[in-house]
Amino acid sequence: MKNIIIFGAPGSGKGTYSDEIVKRYGMGHISTGDVLRAQIKAGTELGKTAKGYIDNGQLLPDSLMIDILADTYDSLPAGQGVIFDGFPRTIAQAEALKKMLAERNHDMGVMVELIVDEETLLARLLNRAIEQGRADDNEETIKKRFAVYHAQTEPLADWFEKEGMRHTFTWYGSKEQMLGDIFAFLDTLK
Ligand code: ATP
Ligand code: MG
Repeated sequence: MKNIIIFGAPGSGKGTYSDEIVKRYGMGHISTGDVLRAQIKAGTELGKTAKGYIDNGQLLPDSLMIDILADTYDSLPAGQGVIFDGFPRTIAQAEALKKMLAERNHDMGVMVELIVDEETLLARLLNRAIEQGRADDNEETIKKRFAVYHAQTEPLADWFEKEGMRHTFTWYGSKEQMLGDIFAFLDTLK
């Protein structure tokens, strides 16, 4: 499979759909949020730095994230395609990803954008707080993450549009329907 960048607001289902895509197409998966949470759990220096930003709903510095992303990418088997979940989140990260892949003669692939109304997003994140106990899934931090998303990440959709990579999928209340639409598109790429 080609590389896939899965893009959307907090709670839009990036991780959930990534898992389904990995199951169907057998590709690699990089979730930068999961990488950072693993570092926090392991108590590393990076984890300590990350916790300060994450608990505050802020993004980590681009330079740090770009290094983490490149290291993780290079640790995966080449040639199977990778799904990027939670990266890029800024224009600088997108430019860095483009450069990193070009240096390796790899293609950026396609961007899959998940559009979900904010009421649904908030309900999902509050529910996840109960089920998974993520420290950043409280109402105050969620509001900050939405604001950061609108200010820093959403403008990237236009960047992908200009790259001719943007493919948008909208939530109409059914996971099966959304997943079916995404699979129907991805099947055309194989
Ligand atoms: P969801 O997982 O439901 O889509 P989310 O997008 O808010 O929600 P993660 O992708 O897990 O959650 O990210 C959690 C936090 O990790 C972010 O709020 C941010 O602080 C940090 N983070 C993850 N990826 C990046 C990145 N590419 N750049 C900067 N910070 C990041
Ligand atoms: Mg996630």
